[in-house]
Amino acid sequence: MTGRLRHYVCGSTTHDVGAMFRGEPRGVRSFPSGVFLYDGDDGRRVLFDTGYATGAWRTGWRGAVYRRLLPPIVDDADDVAARLRDDGVDPATVTHVVLSHLHPDHVGGVRRFPTATFVLTQGMLRTLAAPSLRSAVLPGLLPEWFPRARRRELGDDEFLDREVGGIHVSAVDLFDDGSYLVVALPGHADGHVGALVDGRVLLAGDAAWGADLLDAVPRLRALPRAVQFDPEAYATTARDLCTIADSGIRVVCSHDRAGAKDLLD
Ligand SMILES: [Zn+2]
Repeated sequence: MTGRLRHYVCGSTTHDVGAMFRGEPRGVRSFPSGVFLYDGDDGRRVLFDTGYATGAWRTGWRGAVYRRLLPPIVDDADDVAARLRDDGVDPATVTHVVLSHLHPDHVGGVRRFPTATFVLTQGMLRTLAAPSLRSAVLPGLLPEWFPRARRRELGDDEFLDREVGGIHVSAVDLFDDGSYLVVALPGHADGHVGALVDGRVLLAGDAAWGADLLDAVPRLRALPRAVQFDPEAYATTARDLCTIADSGIRVVCSHDRAGAKDLLD
């Protein structure tokens, strides 16, 4: 396989790591919002997540509460379409958008891809049908055409058992060629998924705040633990990802600093 995987930062937020985990030193850390573009065979262009929305969010008081708790740091240059254009990629050439889950820092750029096919899990469809408090800002962030967008809805029965890095996971082989596996990484949000690209890089979404914090998940304090959709599954997923990382597969969380732009070099 000869794909290319690029990383872009589309906004960021800050958090005190010591306030989130027992045993971590206090200190505010910046968490960039990553977007990942995969160029595969046949002109296939798959975007994983879309970052923050730039400009005003039309999300009312719920958006104001969210922004107070997790203040987005975002300007026009952070817009996913601007990031792609700056790198010589026409956003209209993106064929698929895989969303890890439907939180604001992952869906803000959905509106830039009206012609793409959106890959959605059953958990995401449930969230769209009845947004929880955490995802209540969704209607204001998603474009009005989203319900009519081209979609690939992944059925629960499409997720098949596979071995990845010595761990049994449930995954959908999106193009039936092993290049792009959508991997169930349950816990953070209903229907949360990652993507194993070329068998080498596992995009882990919000399975943890950072790949370096995966092994700190058991020390998560009560509040950040309670806001997970399924705290127990979240802990199990983090443990599995530690094993997968130990096997040599690179695990990259959405809020990691990835270093180089190209992730498969
Ligand atoms: Zn999230």
